[in-house]
Amino acid sequence: MNDQISRANFDQVMVPCYSPADVIPVRGEGSRLWDQQGREYIDLAGGIAVNCLGHRHPALMQALQEQADRVWHLSNVFTNEPALELAKRLTELTFAEQVFFANSGAEANEAAFKLARKYAYDHAGPDSGKHEIISFNGSFHGRTLFTVSVGGQLKYRQGFEPVPGGITHLPYNDKAALELAVSDKTCAIVMEPVLGEGGVIPADPEFVRLARTLCDRHDALLVFDEVQTGAGRTGSLYAHQALGVTPDILTSAKGLGGGFPIGAMLTSRKVGASFGVGSHGTTYGGNPLACAVALAVINTLDDPALMAGVERKSELIRSELTALSQRHGFFSEIRGRGLLLGAELAHHWKGQAKRVLDACRNQGLMLLMAGPDVIRLTPSLIIPDADIQEAITRLDRALNDLVAEGPTGS
Ligand SMILES: *Cc1c(COP(=O)(O)O)cnc(C)c1O
Repeated sequence: MNDQISRANFDQVMVPCYSPADVIPVRGEGSRLWDQQGREYIDLAGGIAVNCLGHRHPALMQALQEQADRVWHLSNVFTNEPALELAKRLTELTFAEQVFFANSGAEANEAAFKLARKYAYDHAGPDSGKHEIISFNGSFHGRTLFTVSVGGQLKYRQGFEPVPGGITHLPYNDKAALELAVSDKTCAIVMEPVLGEGGVIPADPEFVRLARTLCDRHDALLVFDEVQTGAGRTGSLYAHQALGVTPDILTSAKGLGGGFPIGAMLTSRKVGASFGVGSHGTTYGGNPLACAVALAVINTLDDPALMAGVERKSELIRSELTALSQRHGFFSEIRGRGLLLGAELAHHWKGQAKRVLDACRNQGLMLLMAGPDVIRLTPSLIIPDADIQEAITRLDRALNDLVAEGPTGS
């Protein structure tokens, strides 16, 4: 423990774009975290849907340590074995034939959106005007200028204008609006199979199928942003695999690295061809350490029993949350897919997700929010059932604390 460093340092030396909790976790194990004072927490936040195998998973530790002993970084002037192995594995397990590696979800999406534009430019011609991107209200795709522009939340874009043009935002799950908006000028439809940051709202399967049909009709690319829903989060390696709709481009990050930064864009050979030599790139993308860890993540997730466990744990959490909700009247709806779960706050408690998170932390429980009205749970996919039960006990205590204080706080 470092007595010199505390949360107070944050306000001095960090740009104030975050408002972190007042405790600093220093150690993790499985689904538990410990802070500087040795207080223990159950972690249902998982570094925002990142720590899909919890903390200190032995297979990931081994992969990282072995690769650390070989070579850390080469850049894309050379290729490297872990990147090739990971790309091969991803193409074996998905529709994709080719992969581009980046370091984050935003970068994977940046690559996807640029590729969609470039593909239309290459195939429809430079003067075709086929550059329009269709996206959805409430969607989140990252924080670069292009990704906040495609993202459907004004608050992330405001103040950074002028932003890239040619982007239309439609209501999510609105089939009629989608049908009206798609045209021969459309180069891509971009969607999350479950709106993550936007409130944990699953896509209507018919809506997703319609997007595929419209893309085929208008020669547009279907881009699935699976940065949050991928890497087993919803009970299949990628969420679209359970929906039965295949995209042209898929982006993955968050859980892909299980805690080590990596992003990936997956596509077909035909579409990938538009990223010819020199057209796109990144220094760190495909870093051997990141790829070695991600390979261990993917190989660990490629296990039907583990995936079945995601479904079972999802059911367990849902039923416990429903029971809690009946007791406290706290939630109006429990929703989501697999272990990407959202609990919508009932009317008295609307807008107070942050207060709920604070109360939970005081009881030794880490959760997330998805907007001010939704509590989001993204635990480890292998969280022990006993930890789920203990988490529910702590959540129950936290809700009791809040009910005692009353909806407006004191
Ligand atoms: C988190 C997220 C991103 C951005 O990923 P970063 O690694 O933070 O850049 C993009 N899309 C979705 C759906 C996400 O949940």
